[in-house]
Amino acid sequence: MSLRVCRTVAEFRAACDQVRHAGARVGLVPTMGALHSGHMALVDAARARGARAAITIFVNPTQFGPNEDFARYPRPIERDLELANAHGAELAFVPSVEEMYPPGEQTRVSVAKLVDVLCGPKRPNHFDGVATVVTKLFNVSGPCVAIFGRKDYQQLQVIRRMVRDLLLPVEVVGHPIVREADGLALSSRNMYLDAAERAAAPQIARALSAAVRGFAAGFRVDYVELVGESELEPIADEVTLAGSALLAVAAFLGRTRLIDNVVLGQDPAPVPEEEHG
Ligand code: AMP
Repeated sequence: MSLRVCRTVAEFRAACDQVRHAGARVGLVPTMGALHSGHMALVDAARARGARAAITIFVNPTQFGPNEDFARYPRPIERDLELANAHGAELAFVPSVEEMYPPGEQTRVSVAKLVDVLCGPKRPNHFDGVATVVTKLFNVSGPCVAIFGRKDYQQLQVIRRMVRDLLLPVEVVGHPIVREADGLALSSRNMYLDAAERAAAPQIARALSAAVRGFAAGFRVDYVELVGESELEPIADEVTLAGSALLAVAAFLGRTRLIDNVVLGQDPAPVPEEEHG
């Protein structure tokens, strides 16, 4: 295997310094492992930019909440290293928790407003954990180009803002989402899905596809909102919708303003399945 595996900060820092001394650029691909074709596309993208791909594999404890899946997150490290090697990664950084978080550590990196929406309220401290570990990885690897997937879109924007605000010597590149043939976005967590859940999962991508086709038809969207079906109140940050809610749209076609809605959980789909393929 030509992949060089570094397990300490000192070793990975020296290896990245060596790459730069040889006149090459470090192409950093931070991951939590359980690698799949989405991760490999990031390695390929680093190499396509002429950089030497350095993949990091670290299940970062500070980005998991107390009731999340840190303990059971898959860690197939030997398989991961083989895959990274097969894709031409030159360096792999596989640190221990103690190596990344020295005993007694008490420092966090925190981006403010961007974390107040989407996943932020649902996963308190998650993005602080991400920003902190990514800062550490940048500080160990040194100046580099770093590739992140757009599946974690909010994470990408948080990292872009952090790099800009902290003047970090890193070029951040966002890579398109890699999907299964049926549209499901690849994820290490897809392996948690049972057969019925796996069959349902592509519905997210199908719904997004319908939105793309709808928008491409020439609409100017006035609003798209999900609200309570009785009081029309915004669905609060702390609510995870399992019951019903009103999904309402207003959009202009030319000078004409059209409105439509469905009550999710009550109304049938307004257009039969075969017509929205
Ligand atoms: P993770 O191991 O889940 O933390 O992901 C590591 C990196 O891979 C992040 O930048 C993710 O956005 C990216 N990534 C994960 N899944 C995909 C995918 N399906 N397509 C593109 N990038 C992905």
